[in-house]
This record gives sequence, structure tokens and C-alpha cells, in this order.
Amino acid sequence: MSMNGCKAAAVSCKETLYTYNMFHMVKAFFPEAEIRQTVDEEQEPLVNLVLDGGSCFSVMPDLSVKTGAPDRDERKKQVTRQIYDYLAAYTGKRLAWGTLTGVRPVKLAMNRLKAGDGEEEITAFLQREYQVSEEKARLAARIAEREMVLLDRLDYKNGFSLYIGIPFCPSICSYCSFSSSPIGLWKDRVEDYLEALFREIQAIGALTSGRQPDTVYIGGGTPVTLEAAQLDRLLSLVEDTFPEAVSGKGLLEYTVEAGRPDAITREKLEVLRRHKISRISVNPQTMRQKTLDRIGRRHTVEDAVRSFWLARELGFDNINMDLIAGLPGETAADMQDTLRQIEALCPDSLTVHSLAVKRAAQMGQEKSEACNLEHREISRMIQDSADAAKRMGMVPYYLYRQKNIAGNFENVGYARADKAGIYNILIMEEVQTIIACGAGSVSKRVYPDGGIERSENVKDVALYIHKIDEMIERKRKLLED
Ligand code: SF4
Repeated sequence: MSMNGCKAAAVSCKETLYTYNMFHMVKAFFPEAEIRQTVDEEQEPLVNLVLDGGSCFSVMPDLSVKTGAPDRDERKKQVTRQIYDYLAAYTGKRLAWGTLTGVRPVKLAMNRLKAGDGEEEITAFLQREYQVSEEKARLAARIAEREMVLLDRLDYKNGFSLYIGIPFCPSICSYCSFSSSPIGLWKDRVEDYLEALFREIQAIGALTSGRQPDTVYIGGGTPVTLEAAQLDRLLSLVEDTFPEAVSGKGLLEYTVEAGRPDAITREKLEVLRRHKISRISVNPQTMRQKTLDRIGRRHTVEDAVRSFWLARELGFDNINMDLIAGLPGETAADMQDTLRQIEALCPDSLTVHSLAVKRAAQMGQEKSEACNLEHREISRMIQDSADAAKRMGMVPYYLYRQKNIAGNFENVGYARADKAGIYNILIMEEVQTIIACGAGSVSKRVYPDGGIERSENVKDVALYIHKIDEMIERKRKLLED
């Protein structure tokens, strides 16, 4: 088997139907490659792929793909399979998730589960139809089964969940792909932001006419960049708007993604406790100080440990911690060391992300190094994380993938019994309406037939404040009837 690389690829597709999958297939095999894409309706091949201006492969309509196939998805699947087989032979490498390019592989497993398949059938289906490795196929099948049990507990057809976004952070991490703003620069506008946000929350209260959310998630950004008094006002408003849910009658989960340890204080955690927050996140990402400094997180390893124990001392019994595999300069040994330190803390859930290199992020310049991390090295990190989670008594309960993810891997949430983040599952499986407020948030209305309608808020904080009436109007349209 050869182990060919590629720095530049040209993909020409006959239809735009294939472009997304082709881009992500080539990117998955050659993360560093510059990809030039064109659509040429006149060309004969469905897809024409040229690697480094030399090796060339075409998917011909007559030979390989039944162009007559009326099902566009089936045609796309066949074309993707052809390209996958070619690239697998060219590189001598197979992808853990095979031909799957989407962010929600568990959804496929979930659909099979709903159709009556068991773990073995689902595993075989994903292997056969999408060339997923047995290990990943089984993982998806098991997660789907767990999700199904958890989702059974809530009214995901008629109920809804609420998301509130605080788009500020103490500093901006180099790999950040959210639109978060440094709190230092926005201090003078935070009150204006809260005023707009409060109006949006109250409008949602009116639009849902007394219905109570099943879960509430306050994320960002870093919600605890707000001062303790501001957090108090925000949580009081949520309580006033949805009194029954927050008083404990029906709210299954109330999360604040505390997030950055450099913004967590005793006073703020006390506010969260007073308002019955049931789940928080304390996110170190790594326990290696050199990496924290390098990626622009202005906190120490000790800050993470201190915040965690402070939260425990105050009575939080559902604490999640986030880690990232594949951070710049990190080896599998560094990850093992991080995991050892996390195991000493023993959080209730652990989310392990694979680094996704977004073009917009500052780390663009370091992309090459990140991408060059040996496939095997990240694979090791992911396996070690799974082992550590198991030792802590956790099982995987949700999974998603990101575009441009390092090594074509996935993000996995592990949790101990009864500590799974239900909102995380909802956002991945898209089975319940999520009404989201705050700058950059995206609301999704899920219809009984599975159809989804989205409504986005503007990302820019100043624009959000300025256009709050329009944001509310968009929501009204989304929720009418
Ligand atoms: S803490 Fe999260 S949202 Fe904030 S800058 Fe870092 S990655 Fe982005």
C-alpha cells in the first residue's frame, strides 16, 4: 500500500449535488491540501478529481453510477463511495467514519433504531452502507440506544428547550470558531446587551404562552464573564418568565456553561446555586500549562482545579469538563497526563473534542502543524480519553463531528449514570424545538413530521442590540401557529 499525500487537489463536479461531499472527502484524506472546486455541467464525468496536478480519477456515469437512479441521495452516496475507494487505495488509509461527511452520524443510527433494528444490525448497516469502521459503527449504535432512553423522559414533540447565549469571553482562544468577543473591550456595552437579551427572553415567554421549557442551557461564550449581580438578574428573569419550570416542576436540566476557569468566582457560583442550576461546565481543555498559554487561554491549570473544587464544595453534583484532543504541540503523552489529572478530579461528565481548524481562527497559521499531527497520535488520544472516561464510570452518550476536524474524528460526551447533558442530545438529534436567544444564536423549530425550520439571530453584538425588535419578530414568525 502506498502512503501518498497531496498538497493541491482540483475537483470538478457535474452537479452541485456532489460538491459538499467531494470537498469533505478530499479534506478528510488530505487535511493540508488546497482544494479548487468547480462545477461544469458540460463535462461527462460526474466527478473529476486531480491530485497534485498528476493522479487523476473520474467517476463516470455509465460505468459506476446509475445516472438514471431517481434518488439524488442514492446517487450522491454512490459517487462518494467511488471517490472514497479511490482515495483509500491511493493513500493506503481508511477513514474511521468512512464516507460519512455530516456532523450527526448518530442520527442515522437513531433512524434505524426507530425502525426496529438492534445494535448488531445498525453496526452492520453503517459498515456496509458507509464504510464506517466497526468500532465507530458500534459506538454510534450504542449512543443511539442511550439517547433514545434519555429522550423518552421528555416531551420532545410538544415541549421545547431554551438556549441563552452570552457572547463574551475573558480572552479569545486561538482555535475559537464561535463568534465570541473579549469582555474587556465590551464592558461598556454589556448592560445594553443584557437589556436586549432580557427583552428577547420575555418575548419568548409571551410567545410560548405559559408553556415551560424542558431544559434550559446558558452558554456562549462564557456566561460567567457577567458579574455576579448581572448573572443574578439574568437568572431571576428566567425564573420570572418560566416560574413553573424553574421552581422544579418539570425542568429536567438547567445548565450554565461556566466554562473558563479564569472567570469563575465563589460569588458567581453561589449565584448559580441559589438559582438551582443543576449542571455546570468547568472547561480546562488541557491540563498542560504550556498549551494553555499557547492557545491564548489566560488561566492556569491550578485555576481549573480550584474552580472545580470550589463548585464541588458549594454542592454542584453534576459538573462537566471539556477537553480537546489535537491541540498544537500536544502529544499523546500530554493528553495522558491531562487525563490523569482529570481522573483525580473525577467530574460527572467529560466531553472530548477533536480540534477543528477553522479558517477564520487565528490558528490558521498553525494549521499545518495541527494537521500534520499523526493520525495515529490523535487516534491514541481519543482512545485514551475513552479509557479514562470508562475508569471514571462514564459511558459515551452523545457524539458529533465538525467540519475540518483533525484526523476526521469526532467529539464525544461521556457521562456517569443520570449525569448526561440532555440538551446536548437535543441539539445533536434535532428532535425538539430549541428556542435560542442572544447574539449569534440559532433557533430550530422541529415539526411533528421531523421537518426543521431555522431562525438565526445576528452574530454581531452591537447589531444584535440595535436590531433586537427584528430578532423578536423573527422568533414570532418561527413560533406562530
Ligand atoms: S472559551 Fe470558548 S467561546 Fe470563549 S474564546 Fe475560548 S473557545 Fe471561544
